[in-house]
Amino acid sequence: MYYPEPVGRLIGELTKLPGIGPRSAQRLAFYILEQPVTAIEQLARSIVEARQKTRYCSTCWNITAADPCPICASSYRDHSTVCVVQDPRDLIAMEKTREYKGVYHVLGGAISPMDGIGPDDIRLKELLARLQQGEIKELILATDPNVEGEATAMYIAKLVKPLGIKVTRIAHGLPVGGDLDYVDEVTLIKALEGRREM
Ligand SMILES: [Zn+2]
Repeated sequence: MYYPEPVGRLIGELTKLPGIGPRSAQRLAFYILEQPVTAIEQLARSIVEARQKTRYCSTCWNITAADPCPICASSYRDHSTVCVVQDPRDLIAMEKTREYKGVYHVLGGAISPMDGIGPDDIRLKELLARLQQGEIKELILATDPNVEGEATAMYIAKLVKPLGIKVTRIAHGLPVGGDLDYVDEVTLIKALEGRREM
């Protein structure tokens, strides 16, 4: 209506992105229109390639270009310690601390009955399968410090207890109700150091 048809379509697509409202979409679209075609082709190619050339690590379920991911494939990491996080952004937050030397398990969410997400909807079966291989000695639960994250940590602790594996929860002192990947690195290092057995 207000825009040429291709521009309207672009704005429509941009509005589907998280955190992008109609105003931001309009601003981005007009920015794109002002750029050289080659720069925009490069942007478009990066988007497609990022999507096409990544997949989940079949061991830890992190986003990766190679399977297994560099962390799972590394002989410098401690494969007997597994840090359980909700999503790949949390894993990146942990990696940025440069303190953690173990490996990970990415759940792909948290148990949330309100949203209809049960234990079968996150990667718990995959976690149990890893634990049953017998190499893992400690499980560090680093789910988000909110209701869903706590409920998920409790559920996993109960599930894993019969296997005789040490289960710890990262310390509180993290801002309650928050997202792990928004926590600053110092707070996250302290939370990791202060983890307690469940
Ligand atoms: Zn991996």
